[in-house]
Amino acid sequence: MVDSHRLLKEMKEYAESENVPIMMDEGINFLTNFILKKHVKSVLEIGTAIGYSAIQMALVDPNVVVTTIERDEVRYLEALKNVKAFGLEDRITLIYNDAFDVSLSDKFDMIFIDAAKAQNKKLFEMFEKNLEKNGFIITDNLKFHGLVSKKEEEIKSRNLRGLVRKIKDYIEFLKTNTKYETEFFDVGDGISVSTKK
Ligand code: SAM
Repeated sequence: MVDSHRLLKEMKEYAESENVPIMMDEGINFLTNFILKKHVKSVLEIGTAIGYSAIQMALVDPNVVVTTIERDEVRYLEALKNVKAFGLEDRITLIYNDAFDVSLSDKFDMIFIDAAKAQNKKLFEMFEKNLEKNGFIITDNLKFHGLVSKKEEEIKSRNLRGLVRKIKDYIEFLKTNTKYETEFFDVGDGISVSTKK
């Protein structure tokens, strides 16, 4: 019998010690409740890291399958190890590649974008063809640790300013995208849910 609680705790500790960004607890709760409530059965995740959110999503229900993409080899290998430890190899497909080099023909009930934050819009546009009718595209970190609500001049680093601008542009893109109805949730680091019309 897998001790999920202990394994998840160890993953969190690993992420913290190795500086791997993983979703905050509040965000994970939101995501898993959403999957349950909307009867999501298939998920495409962009940005696996060490598999923390992918595993939590798969644990919601034995019928949930997750395909997840990671470009960093060390993280991918760690995710592989973790997925095996949970015995979830049959339901979590790990793809080791840059998402921009991945071409999928499958359709998913939900797409979770959690990769490089400056690439949200490109990833959205690239993978929306893989979304089922009435499916959902979820994006994390729209508050970007509170920086998105700050004035530009308050952000000292030029790189960070550029990144925050891109996240703001992405929020605007979601708001004005008439193919989707987007709701924004002040949960964790800020989450959006775009429902395909
Ligand atoms: N979803 C994970 C979780 O909550 O457990 C956290 C993912 S972490 C925030 C983002 C990950 O996306 C990083 O591990 C990074 O290497 C990966 N990434 C960034 N851009 C990517 C791309 N273009 N293709 C594949 N992976 C990418």
